[in-house]
Amino acid sequence: MKNITYVNDKFVNHDKAVVSVEDRGLLFSDSIYELISVFNGKIIDLKLHLNRLFKSLKKIRIKSNFSKNKIENIINKLMNQNSLKNGYIYIQVTRGTAERKHEFPINYKPTLIIFTKNLNINKKIYKKGIKVITMPDIRWMRRDIKSTSLLPNILAKQNAIEKGAYEALLVDNGHITEGSASNIWIIKDSNKIVTHPVNNKILNGITRQTLIKILKKNNFIVLEKSFNLIQAKNSKEAFLTSSTMAILPIIKIDNFSISNGKPGETTQKIMSLYNYYINQKENKKKNSSKELKIA
Ligand code: PMP
Repeated sequence: MKNITYVNDKFVNHDKAVVSVEDRGLLFSDSIYELISVFNGKIIDLKLHLNRLFKSLKKIRIKSNFSKNKIENIINKLMNQNSLKNGYIYIQVTRGTAERKHEFPINYKPTLIIFTKNLNINKKIYKKGIKVITMPDIRWMRRDIKSTSLLPNILAKQNAIEKGAYEALLVDNGHITEGSASNIWIIKDSNKIVTHPVNNKILNGITRQTLIKILKKNNFIVLEKSFNLIQAKNSKEAFLTSSTMAILPIIKIDNFSISNGKPGETTQKIMSLYNYYINQKENKKKNSSKELKIA
């Protein structure tokens, strides 16, 4: 199958796509990224992802020389060329290539990389649920920026995998912020659904944003409030969200079973609401008159 990648104004074979060894993304992680899911040939929440990409650029003061429209055009071209049906689109922007000095180069041209990846969904883990471990959150204080400086996240995830878990929940001052690559939600006895508030301590996930809208429209009570490890371990149900995994039920936190060790009822309901949202997006044009209780 064809695998074309976009790098700095060129469409090339993925294995021929290169950047300079002096690219600031490589030397300093002076770069930001986005990962956008594609289900059944449909791009999920593209606008929200592009908005977050441009917000990240602004926060790290990269002056872009491209528009959202240009990115959308590149994405459409890649999706066609690579026949992308299920998988993701990855976008990275760096502060370009320059002599290795910490301060920003006076003149620079941002490096823009866009590639796509086909993925098969592992349906088993959604039925069975996953185990997570907890670890200290040792990251910097601007976790709201979708930066490619992911070393603490990578180390946490690797630790989880080595312990037979799927994800590491990060604990900051006794409170759980998020997973190494996901947002975390707990469901209390009262059926209230709790997730960390939006601030510099977490990445405001696009799946998180969309799910909050869906839940509120379906009369769930959502609290954007921080919670501690004890509250998480005593929760009725818990789940993770991210663009690649959508909604993933948690059945164990460290050695504590959650919802009797199987995906909880409310989580399953929420998973089907989210799936409905994704499928509805597909049918939007065909079915635009139908009344929807989704975002
Ligand atoms: N937090 C972190 C640290 C992440 O890496 C991710 C996945 N990129 C998320 C949350 C979830 O974000 P999204 O729903 O936009 O994929």
